[in-house]
Amino acid sequence: MTTLYEREAQSISRLAHLRFYPLAVRGGAGTNLITDDGRELLDFAASWGAASLGHSDPRIRAAVDRALSNQAGASYLSSANAATVELAEKLLSLVPNRAAGRIWFGHSGSDANETVARIAVAATGRPRIISFSGAYHGGTTGSAAISGHPSQVTPRAPSLTLVPYPNTFAVGKEAAQASLAELDRLFAGPVPPQDVAAFFIEPIQSDGGMLVPPPGFFKEIEQRCRKHGILLVSDEVKVGLGRTGRLHAFSHHGIEPDIVVFGKGLGGGLPISAIAGPVSVMNFAPAFSFQTLHGNPVCAAAALAVLEAIRIDRLVENAAMTGAHLFSRLESLKQRHSLIGDVRGQGLAIGLELVTDRVTKKPAKREAAMAVYRAFQTGLVLFYVGVNSNVLELTPPLTLTREEADRGVELLDVALTDVEQGRVDPSLAGAFAGW
Ligand SMILES: *Cc1c(COP(=O)(O)O)cnc(C)c1O
Repeated sequence: MTTLYEREAQSISRLAHLRFYPLAVRGGAGTNLITDDGRELLDFAASWGAASLGHSDPRIRAAVDRALSNQAGASYLSSANAATVELAEKLLSLVPNRAAGRIWFGHSGSDANETVARIAVAATGRPRIISFSGAYHGGTTGSAAISGHPSQVTPRAPSLTLVPYPNTFAVGKEAAQASLAELDRLFAGPVPPQDVAAFFIEPIQSDGGMLVPPPGFFKEIEQRCRKHGILLVSDEVKVGLGRTGRLHAFSHHGIEPDIVVFGKGLGGGLPISAIAGPVSVMNFAPAFSFQTLHGNPVCAAAALAVLEAIRIDRLVENAAMTGAHLFSRLESLKQRHSLIGDVRGQGLAIGLELVTDRVTKKPAKREAAMAVYRAFQTGLVLFYVGVNSNVLELTPPLTLTREEADRGVELLDVALTDVEQGRVDPSLAGAFAGW
């Protein structure tokens, strides 16, 4: 019998594949996925955080069904529709004043960040963009051009400057100061700040390795942006909308970005992204950045259901509380597994950096690939991230319960033990490219 995974290989291109093991899914409910061969897996990846309410959430289903029962077109390009207007009003009420001008809707974090980069340059008349080494702002040409993730093959924009993201685990306490010193050096010479349109930040650099910057760092970045009239852009695509235990990830740092970008979890599994920003930028010109299905009322209805569920079910609080519980369980796991060099994160955005040696902190890249593979075999879905491909990423649905958190830790415990005791065949994981 041919499996779903094997059939896929004969029909679907590999270009979009970011695979860690042969996962083939037939369905899902809540935090569980049902595989092709009928296994139930606990999903600690939530499709990179996109399944913010888990799978088959009844509120999203009802909202989508209502939107399709009386379909107000399929786009907002050439007509207004109630779902996108209502969603825009809602988002404007949630973002800080500086960003509460107008909302733009797209399909993905990539098209949103690409639009921000284009509009920032056009609206300010300044040519340059700054972001961080290791940053992932998207996979389209325009969004990859302003990213700094080493997995990407797309060339960077010539107008892009990358600044080191503070990595306190690798560099130590002086990481933030070193990064700011490098920025100041650039401003004093090769990158005149009055030429910089926008500074893109990730409040947690998730794909770069779940790096949480030290307190005060982004305040320093914000001060420099204000001083030089640079638009501060917070990319909240993966860790925003409740995941960190606050509604906005940037709010942990006491900063107020000019532009906020949402994606992934906003649609709870349907494709929708949003930019919130000042009127002067967001109303710069009509017909400036659009794709036909942007402002689709069905996706907007799903997003409204997600925001409502976050409010009613107090999912921001759940992310904080269940996240803290999960974090402490992982910290105790660290005591028993020398592979775990660091546990870090906020709320339900947690990373486990695997190292071959806690003193040298050498990245345990092969072991990370084997660990996620073994976790899949034992019943847990999670992936790895990081510029060295050695950070296990935990971004479960915001609805995660304490019991599910405990079960996930137990499964991970087994997987790490098996890797440490040489019970995982390295060639299994080796067959998957990951990233
Ligand atoms: C995933 C991601 C993006 C890109 O979003 P897509 O939906 O894949 O286009 C942008 N920024 C961050 C921080 C992300 O994690």
